[in-house]
Amino acid sequence: MTDMPARRLLLVHAHPDDESINNGVTMARYAAEGAHVTLVTCTLGERGEVIPPELAHLTGAALGGHRREELAAAMRALGVDDFRLLGGPGRFADSGMMGLPDNDDPGCLWQADVDRAAGLLVEVIREVRPQVLVTYDPNGGYGHPDHIQAHRIATRAVELAAEAGCPVDKVYWNRVPRTVAEEAFARLGEALPGLPFERAADIEDVPGVVDDERITTEIRGEGFAQAAKAAAMRAHATQITVDGSCFVLSNELAQPLFTTEYYELVRGGRGPGDGEHGRESDLFAGIGNGDGIEEAS
Ligand SMILES: [Zn+2]
Repeated sequence: MTDMPARRLLLVHAHPDDESINNGVTMARYAAEGAHVTLVTCTLGERGEVIPPELAHLTGAALGGHRREELAAAMRALGVDDFRLLGGPGRFADSGMMGLPDNDDPGCLWQADVDRAAGLLVEVIREVRPQVLVTYDPNGGYGHPDHIQAHRIATRAVELAAEAGCPVDKVYWNRVPRTVAEEAFARLGEALPGLPFERAADIEDVPGVVDDERITTEIRGEGFAQAAKAAAMRAHATQITVDGSCFVLSNELAQPLFTTEYYELVRGGRGPGDGEHGRESDLFAGIGNGDGIEEAS
């Protein structure tokens, strides 16, 4: 792997669109800086609700196929070439929202054996050898079974990869600081009369909101990365409608589009904090040239 870039980032997500909403700025920035960015998506999201009426006929496998194309378009917008479906396209079915009968489908991600699914991700880790992995918190950010399962698979894969001599130096969970979410919703409330959306979501609808003290890292989206994120989100047209600084999902409740992305470091040493509030401004902070973590100064 002599031609592999020095910095390698792996993101593990549940459905096409989650990567752009959570990490679009981060992915665009690192891809542009020449890092190797790998996205592993666990399902095709074929049980998602479709927003545009003209695409509402898409369900099941047809929707999965369409969302795969949306994902490819989003990756073009972010400049990311390496994106994969865990175990290949269609290996794991979308589990649907928590509590639905879909959760019992033996082929769905929620029913998957975590160790076996993690084994598939270990194969990717052994190939790409990422220093940094990004995924959700244990609640999947907001309780969707596929997001919870993506967390479990990613977490187990990091353990198994380490045992196989292929350690991932740092693991981050996607986060939003509570004060940032509160300020963004306050601005959204003021802007709402001029927007094409009738109502705003609640802070509780935003995945991964936690008290500010838990945030270790922030990746700012100035310039192109911000625009790339919005373009990537627009590419997921069956799932997302973007308008300026906010967007809606199929519930039609407006949410702020965060142009700075936040993380909580949960594995590995924290690098130098040169960002706001002493936070890291780089997911690779403190990592040497593939030699593991350097001492944080
Ligand atoms: Zn999702």
